[in-house]
Amino acid sequence: MIVALRAIVGDNNVLDAAEVAKRSAGAWRPDSLKAAALVRPKTTDEVSQVMRWCHAHDVSVVTQGGLTGLVHASDAASDQVILSLEHMYQIEDINPRQRTATVQAGVILQTLQEAADAHDLSFPLDLGARGSATIGGNAATNAGGNRVIRYGMTRDMVLGLEVVLADGTILSSLNHLIKNNTGYDLKHLFIGSEGTLGIITRLVLRLREKPVGQNMALVAVPNFAAMGKLLKHMDRSLGGTLSAFEAMWQSFYRLVTTAPAKGRPPIAQDYPYYVLIESQGAARESDTARFNAALESAMEQELILDAAISQSDADCHDFWSLRDDVGQSMQGGLPVVFDISLPIDAMERYTEDLARTLTAQISEHKLWIFGHLGDGNLHIVVQVKPQDYFAMRPKIEALVYQPLAAFGGSVSAEHGIGLEKKPYLSISRSETEIAIMRSIKATLDPKSILNPGKIF
Ligand code: ZN
Repeated sequence: MIVALRAIVGDNNVLDAAEVAKRSAGAWRPDSLKAAALVRPKTTDEVSQVMRWCHAHDVSVVTQGGLTGLVHASDAASDQVILSLEHMYQIEDINPRQRTATVQAGVILQTLQEAADAHDLSFPLDLGARGSATIGGNAATNAGGNRVIRYGMTRDMVLGLEVVLADGTILSSLNHLIKNNTGYDLKHLFIGSEGTLGIITRLVLRLREKPVGQNMALVAVPNFAAMGKLLKHMDRSLGGTLSAFEAMWQSFYRLVTTAPAKGRPPIAQDYPYYVLIESQGAARESDTARFNAALESAMEQELILDAAISQSDADCHDFWSLRDDVGQSMQGGLPVVFDISLPIDAMERYTEDLARTLTAQISEHKLWIFGHLGDGNLHIVVQVKPQDYFAMRPKIEALVYQPLAAFGGSVSAEHGIGLEKKPYLSISRSETEIAIMRSIKATLDPKSILNPGKIF
């Protein structure tokens, strides 16, 4: 196998099992990678040749990007080949008039953000792992992040894709048009497919005009109902410039503003809910006036009890640092991290019920809740003692996931299914939906060699 793969991509670009085992499985993971080989093609044609060989020899292939996923979607077994896109990092073209970028799939998200910025444009996908996540991985998992309320998920930013299928066929669909209603939009099959239907090798992405400035506020809210009203109020008052609306429950706010966390509380810690509000616009002075007026009117309506308002870009950075300091949940125990969606009207009851059932059924634990409230997406973190982790984890999962069915919620808002949420897929998808997913998989990958066993 090693010899055959080296003949395609060159000696230096195939690692054997021993070399693979020296690599970490990812920043959030204690373990190292395993696989029969890791192959690093540089072009779509090389990916195609690798797949043709693996298809002919019934070898399974797991595609890897930046290894920042949280659901074990890119775990490989010792008889499988890892296809890493780390050498496909070319930004091939940025077209400022068409406002598109054409890139290879291994480009790091932050690298593309900076390249777009140099053209006074923006690639608005943004998430904590921006420094190591790849664009191909973002598309394969339909990544969400902090600005979905304004720009949508990765799916909404991809205009065209080039994909290598399981048998090595190259499906080139590098569309540059925003409007192109010419039959089935095949790219959407591969976006969010977690490497099970094809290997994304190149992408055409939609860029946006770069915002000139941003305004942010960290506000305290008296109750959950006020948080929902505040979202509508700010969105309406800001006329399309609202770019993030991040909720934090009191316990999470305390976690990220109390030592050993680096952050300090910009406003008192005893309110029930907090929201980080961000607006990005095109005119600094009038944007600031409008932002402050919207906050004042929210205070008059008692939707906001207290607020810290950014005075500089450094303040904005500090506010985001608080929100992003999820790593604090690793202190003093082990966190079980969830990524769920549910209608905003159901959130208060769901989270109150969850706190109650956890208290009743999980002896010692801590519960933190935060998330992208504007998108109906909550991150729930339940921390238990390290010695309880493996025993408690399935119980906690059941308590978090089972009630979602009644509320029409989703077991995965943005992280995907991978291996981790596979047992719970049926909470969010009907039997008919899963049957059609399986038939698409069988059509595109009849030997099931692409990331087998993931999702379902
Ligand atoms: Zn998130």
